[in-house]
Amino acid sequence: MSTLTTRDVVVVGAGVVGLSVAWRASTRYGLAVTVVDPAPGRGASHAAAGMLTPVSELQYGEESLLELNTESARRYPAFAAELADASGLPSGYRTCGTLAVALDADDRAVLKDLHAYQERLGLSSSRLTSRECRRLEPMLSPAITGGLHVDDDHQIDNRRLVAALLAACERAGVTFVRERVERILVTDDRAHGVRLANGRDLSADQVLLAAGCRSALIPGLPPEVVPPVRPVKGEILRLRVPPVMAPFLSRNVRGVVKGGSMYLVPRADGELVIGATEYERGHDTETTAGGVYELLRDAHELVPGVTELPLVETLAGLRPGSPDNAPIVGRSSLAGLVVATGHYRHGILLTPITADTVAEVLALGTTPEIIRPFGPDRFETVAREVMA
Ligand SMILES: Cc1cc2nc3c(=O)[nH]c(=O)nc-3n(C[C@H](O)[C@H](O)[C@H](O)COP(=O)(O)OP(=O)(O)OC[C@H]3O[C@@H](n4cnc5c(N)ncnc54)[C@H](O)[C@@H]3O)c2cc1C
Repeated sequence: MSTLTTRDVVVVGAGVVGLSVAWRASTRYGLAVTVVDPAPGRGASHAAAGMLTPVSELQYGEESLLELNTESARRYPAFAAELADASGLPSGYRTCGTLAVALDADDRAVLKDLHAYQERLGLSSSRLTSRECRRLEPMLSPAITGGLHVDDDHQIDNRRLVAALLAACERAGVTFVRERVERILVTDDRAHGVRLANGRDLSADQVLLAAGCRSALIPGLPPEVVPPVRPVKGEILRLRVPPVMAPFLSRNVRGVVKGGSMYLVPRADGELVIGATEYERGHDTETTAGGVYELLRDAHELVPGVTELPLVETLAGLRPGSPDNAPIVGRSSLAGLVVATGHYRHGILLTPITADTVAEVLALGTTPEIIRPFGPDRFETVAREVMA
């Protein structure tokens, strides 16, 4: 079995997480990085909607995650501009704001409670009447009973983001190996490289595990350091707004429809993304008629005109979910292994902060304060206790 050249870092997985860290580690710190992935950029990062909505998607009890999310959103404009410059491609970042709307009294009560919670946390949002919502977005149904406007929640076209990250990595001299990692190589309590599906070994000083929802499935690691990620399926639709119907929507629209939440994300180029279902069904990525039906039914309730638009794509992706819905980022207790996975519903939002902080961990060995609560050690202790 031959061993390829030793590199500073080998990154397992080329989604937004692996790519953005590879780019930062290479350009900011001069590390020699190799990224291994049989299909770069085609995982959850390809399926996603690209909403950057820490305030509108606030969940009760997730205050520490909120801080990470809002800090990443704050870094986005500079990150996107630097990426566009480095790649020569548009980043797809769009400042547009987000309007959450309600249909019936129960849905309106959900938004009212959310607004009160946002205010308690010092976040900026404003409640709107039905008429005010429709003044902002004339295509909304007259049945809308009210809404919540968040001026600072934006979006990025995640496919443009991935394309720009790939180009920026290539320009920065990151090496790509289009192979599957079959095993992480560990000897004498140290991760020192990976074995590829073609039988070759690639050695490195450090391994970054960033394989999204498959991060727990790659053999070789001691059980206690395997990050507990699982796939959370999401179906999503892409429609096209013909120029005569533009602008169909001007900002992200989130809806609470009979207790469930869904969204419509209008791109500057006329694409309209509608998402997303959420199921726990293992690694199944089949798009179901029921999922597409539900999304179109709810979207039609909020914005009746959607059913006139061409349906361009239906797709299912797998979010990398973690036990507490927060990412798992930082140095593991296994020497040589750094982890960046479990970003669940917010991996696109968390791209800038993940890139900055994990690149620092790899290059300097220091863990920035803001990611300390999200280290792999919070699950390693539990795993050790279970195994004892
Ligand atoms: C329907 C849907 C909508 C979403 N909407 C949003 C949104 O609006 N905003 C937001 O912030 N987030 C959203 N997300 C979440 C976001 O997409 C993810 O959190 C993010 O893409 C995770 O990035 P990643 O790089 O960890 O994983 P991925 O993008 O899945 O990348 C993992 C990579 O690892 C590779 N890999 C796996 N196994 C191996 C192996 N053995 N060897 C080598 N490579 C391997 C895969 O090929 C893949 O390319 C959404 C997700 C879905 C599914």
